[in-house]
Amino acid sequence: MKLNRNYLNLEESYLFSTVAHKVSAFSAAHPEAKILRMGIGDVTLPLAPAVVEAMQKAVSEMGKKETFRGYGPEQGYDFLRESIQGYYARRGIALDVNEIFISDGAKSDLGNILDIFDTDNTVLIPDPVYPVYVDTNVMAGRKIVFADANADNGFLPMPDDSVNADIIYICSPNNPTGAAYSAEQLQAWVDYARAHGAVILYDAAYECFVSEKGLARSIYETKGAKECAIEFCSFSKTAGFTGTRCGYTVVPQDLKFDGVSCNKLWLRRQTTKFNGVPYIVQRGAAAVFTEEGEKQIHENLAVYRRNAKRLCDCMDELGVFYTGGKNSPYVWFRCPGFSDSWQFFDYLLEKANVVGTPGCGFGKNGQGFFRLTAFGSEETTIEAVERIKNLLKV
Ligand code: PLP
Repeated sequence: MKLNRNYLNLEESYLFSTVAHKVSAFSAAHPEAKILRMGIGDVTLPLAPAVVEAMQKAVSEMGKKETFRGYGPEQGYDFLRESIQGYYARRGIALDVNEIFISDGAKSDLGNILDIFDTDNTVLIPDPVYPVYVDTNVMAGRKIVFADANADNGFLPMPDDSVNADIIYICSPNNPTGAAYSAEQLQAWVDYARAHGAVILYDAAYECFVSEKGLARSIYETKGAKECAIEFCSFSKTAGFTGTRCGYTVVPQDLKFDGVSCNKLWLRRQTTKFNGVPYIVQRGAAAVFTEEGEKQIHENLAVYRRNAKRLCDCMDELGVFYTGGKNSPYVWFRCPGFSDSWQFFDYLLEKANVVGTPGCGFGKNGQGFFRLTAFGSEETTIEAVERIKNLLKV
């Protein structure tokens, strides 16, 4: 018996455990301190009433002989796939229902999709980024090269023709930097992928935060994307489903390599290894696209947007370089007066009792940067902004 020794090459992630450890040590030493947590990547507002109602109705259906449902289609019920199809259609993107696969969230699909690609592929991953892309490829032993995101390129790296890559990750709006590509910039990535015979894995988990004109919410806003890109999306941040679990992945019929359809392979993979998302959850997710559901979800998103604006205004006032906040729940800024993200973390915790996330935990280019999130309450955000301003103003 041989273990998958690639797992031994994974770097231990100490980011959130170290944050938790430092916060509990500080609070034990200063029990009177009111600590404001601005590092959380999880949502805090509850599910929309329309979603709850749809799920309650589905629960009662499951409790009656006539309406009970057992195994559903592995790729999701048509009622939800059609709702998602409509969501794309309203943005001018035509998808076939068979191109949409329902899952228990973007994280699973981002990892699982790698099953259909050989391990002998080179992967291009932006740095800094959501750590799942690196770790899932390390587990498979793939070669990884990085696209440097930094202040010079506004944390939006563009393709470099001298780099050869087979699998390209794009996360827009990005976690942790909040930077979002324009449709024009994405077109350059699509052109690069097609010229190199590569596939793009496009993570649109935060697309609902895009509000500026010209910025893309889907890779399929570009020409030729259906021939080179898979898109992952989620109800987690859009509708507060982080604990409820539902997402979707678009694998276009036109996506083929050596004449083999990726859609067919993914369908085979899912029907073999996955038994679908609960009917109750899918009914809740479908309610997100009803008129009422959409309105309620936008009320919640408006709270996070207002918080993000407060953080942006704070950075503007302080004259600190930052990205994100405008089309993202994340504000990513250069640590004023510190070159080390952890030292700044300690300073902010000790002097302002505010907790954020050190940028170095998301990749080497994150060193000297810091992430604050807009997912807290409005009261917490307003107070945190005041404390940060008082501490950092010169
Ligand atoms: N993609 C990005 C960029 C994320 O930041 C997250 C979660 O924080 C996910 C995917 C995971 O989404 P899900 O909850 O649908 O698994």
